[in-house]
Amino acid sequence: MHTTISVSATAQYAIDLEEKYGAHNYHPLPVVLEKGEGVFLYDTDGKRYFDFLSGYSAVNQGHCHPKIIAALIEQAQKLTLTSRAFHSNLLGEYEQFITNFFGYDKVLPMNTGVEAVETAIKLARRWGYERKGIEENKAKIIVCAHNFHGRTSTVISFSTDPSSYSKFGPFMPGFHVIPYNDLEALQEALQQKNVCGFLVEPIQGEAGVVVPDDGYLSTAKQYCEAANVLFIGDEIQTGLCRTGKMLACDHENVRPDILILGKALSGGVLPVSAVLADDEIMLTIKPGEHGSTYGGNPLACHVAVAALKVLKDEQLSERAEKLGQLLRHELTALHSPYISLVRGKGLLNAIVIKHHNPEAAWDLCMEMKENGLLAKPTHGDKIRLAPPLIISEEQIHECVEIIRKSLAILS
Ligand code: PLP
Repeated sequence: MHTTISVSATAQYAIDLEEKYGAHNYHPLPVVLEKGEGVFLYDTDGKRYFDFLSGYSAVNQGHCHPKIIAALIEQAQKLTLTSRAFHSNLLGEYEQFITNFFGYDKVLPMNTGVEAVETAIKLARRWGYERKGIEENKAKIIVCAHNFHGRTSTVISFSTDPSSYSKFGPFMPGFHVIPYNDLEALQEALQQKNVCGFLVEPIQGEAGVVVPDDGYLSTAKQYCEAANVLFIGDEIQTGLCRTGKMLACDHENVRPDILILGKALSGGVLPVSAVLADDEIMLTIKPGEHGSTYGGNPLACHVAVAALKVLKDEQLSERAEKLGQLLRHELTALHSPYISLVRGKGLLNAIVIKHHNPEAAWDLCMEMKENGLLAKPTHGDKIRLAPPLIISEEQIHECVEIIRKSLAILS
């Protein structure tokens, strides 16, 4: 086996600068990108790639979607930030739009995904104290093993991945970890006193696109309701048409009590996240008790409305559903001895690589890069395949051909 690394002097210069002046908290593929358009990314040498990561599902609408960029430019020339010390003409309009879009009373706007997760945790705890009558500082949130909800010190406190939490303690208490996709474990955990919330990814994206059994989410929601516990859906990666429905919870007609969105809420243009809930939960937080300088800024509001409209206007959930089925079918039909599993929903998919070499998934990604397709291994042997949802049927076939050809590197 060999891995071809062809990096031009221009690309190497950019890589060297990052290595020298940037923190070493990522291990990127050696490709230097300078342009994105639709499903494609272009490197500094003008080479074109299919993007099969989509900025970890932030770019569902495709790179530099003209309508989203037009909204960005239009608003950037008018007003970008007021802070929440004052009103803006766009915040209320955006709040009305997004709450109608998803069917909730209220929204709390934030920026990154993990900030929205933090917000949901604070809301669930506050609701637990004020509405459920939990004794102060005793609230518990149930979470799942192999979760990924972001990188803040609270959120890594309940991670089960040592690379997320090791030597970053001491940790925030108040979380109880159960296995994912295990309804009995959930039922048992819900018996505990002081539980205010169950925080769950409808599909575990970072864990390698782990899809729970049919009925898991709807039964989990019923159990939560029976125990008077809030069902908190982290749809940061799975939401916004990625899995073939507007929300992954829609596959089971589950309406989370607290819904967390991020990533594609701006189509990859700037960090925009949101927490949605009804008044009974949202109004437990009072002025001055939570916020963010940039949260709900006019630029974000204008971009998010455009990004949500594109999802509906271009029927991206229907596309994701149809093309996801095609992608999984075609990948399975390769009958590669090196692919032990093809799994996913809509266009959130992964292949699990079977090979004696533990670096095989990385080597395959390097070879796919050479052949014009960018993807990244997650947890060693899994490769997530999640192109922008605007990809066409012919392009799916073209990409499966690239993957087929690249698999030869493993023989
Ligand atoms: N929650 C989920 C399910 C995610 O996939 C991610 C990011 O990958 C996050 C939270 C954190 O989002 P951010 O990186 O924007 O903080």
